Amino acid sequence: MVGVCVGIHLLQQGRSVVLMDRNEAGEETSYGNAGLLQQEAVRPYEFPRDLSVILPAALNLRLDVRYHLTALPKLMLPLWSYFRNCSPRRYESIAQEYGHIINMTLACHQELISAAGAEQLIRKVGWITLYRTAKGRNKGHRELDAYARQGVNFKVLNGDELADMEPAIKGHHAGGVHWQDPWIAGHPGKLVKAYTRLFKQLGGEFVQGDATSLERSNRQSWQLRDHQGNTFEANETVIALGPWSAEITNRFGYRPPMFFKRGYHMHYQYPAGQPRLTRAVQDSEKGYMMTPMDAGLRICTGAELGLRDTPSTPVQINRAEAIARALIPLGDRLDAEPWRGARPCIPDMKPIIGPLPGVPGLWCAFGHGHQGFTMGPATGKLLAAMMTGQATEIEMSGFQANRFVHT
Ligand SMILES: Cc1cc2nc3c(=O)[nH]c(=O)nc-3n(C[C@H](O)[C@H](O)[C@H](O)COP(=O)(O)OP(=O)(O)OC[C@H]3O[C@@H](n4cnc5c(N)ncnc54)[C@H](O)[C@@H]3O)c2cc1C
Repeated sequence: MVGVCVGIHLLQQGRSVVLMDRNEAGEETSYGNAGLLQQEAVRPYEFPRDLSVILPAALNLRLDVRYHLTALPKLMLPLWSYFRNCSPRRYESIAQEYGHIINMTLACHQELISAAGAEQLIRKVGWITLYRTAKGRNKGHRELDAYARQGVNFKVLNGDELADMEPAIKGHHAGGVHWQDPWIAGHPGKLVKAYTRLFKQLGGEFVQGDATSLERSNRQSWQLRDHQGNTFEANETVIALGPWSAEITNRFGYRPPMFFKRGYHMHYQYPAGQPRLTRAVQDSEKGYMMTPMDAGLRICTGAELGLRDTPSTPVQINRAEAIARALIPLGDRLDAEPWRGARPCIPDMKPIIGPLPGVPGLWCAFGHGHQGFTMGPATGKLLAAMMTGQATEIEMSGFQANRFVHT
């Protein structure tokens, strides 16, 4: 999502752009997510500070977050920094910056959706946080004031209103919150592919190749090779490889403190003759998300803290499935194996957007963590403005790569 959107915005600024991916576009993290365009996500995903959350998480007893013990040595530093950035004072200031970029997102998506003729891929219905118990509801409601202060629209639902809005949910629950502004992509990968077609219509060239072939060909220019061995030269290169971005930046001396919150999904058949969810629903006290997608209901898991490439341990998806089966009508599994991806997370919760320090002509657009599917077009617009020397819509100093360079 991020790379394609950067490409489109650079073309719109009159640049000539080649987009290289080792596969087709929209087949990795931007395919496997929960499909939410999250205009409500002005407050980034926080490291919990409440012992009633931290202790069961430390014992690996929670569904929303688990960790691999063997990954802890590599995770300790970024997690410590993440924890410190979630002190109330720091978190509030980060949430204000994060809110500025999130507030741009739907308008930026709408521009691309209209230009790409992709309206049919989007449902503008919002999504719901479900509270099973009064305790969970009261805890959730305590956070709503902060969202209201940041201009987020929502409607608090009692149990009856929740049941009326989503008849597929079995039983009576304490209530919910309907986040009214977000949109759902019924097939996230198809939205990225629609944007990729737009990129090509605007004159962009899409090629398949390995970005690790990037080299400086002379003082001014950069060179990449596609899978056929063709070479492409450019004065500037943007690194937008999501969870793989640091593989390139490390080679040029820039080591962003990226860590991974792995996540899983599985699709399920809609049982014939039974009600379906019409919106995405987060079963908040359990800790997983259900999104009604075109291909079936997609259950997505929370965070698995681990290394990006170690084998799948789909404990969370199996447990979420068992819980969801008691909550809504859920048919057979549709995928042979759970899909796994990695949210590319930065300890201060903000993406890295801007020039790569000390290496002229290299730019960064990665680290979008929980909301890269939402933020892609806004990132594209902001980075294209920076690269072409124009004023950006929001202040970018807090998103620059040099915040992790210590002299
Ligand atoms: C379970 C889960 C649920 C999520 N739900 C949401 C959600 O509802 N809303 C939301 O906004 N965000 C969500 N996210 C986060 C979001 O999916 C990511 O932040 C976003 O997709 C990152 O986009 P990206 O373009 O940076 O990375 P990617 O989509 O991963 O794209 C990176 C691209 O780089 C290519 N690449 C990698 N290495 C190379 C190489 N060496 N050479 C060439 N190409 C290469 C890959 O093929 C890929 O196409 C979720 C994430 C997960 C895991």
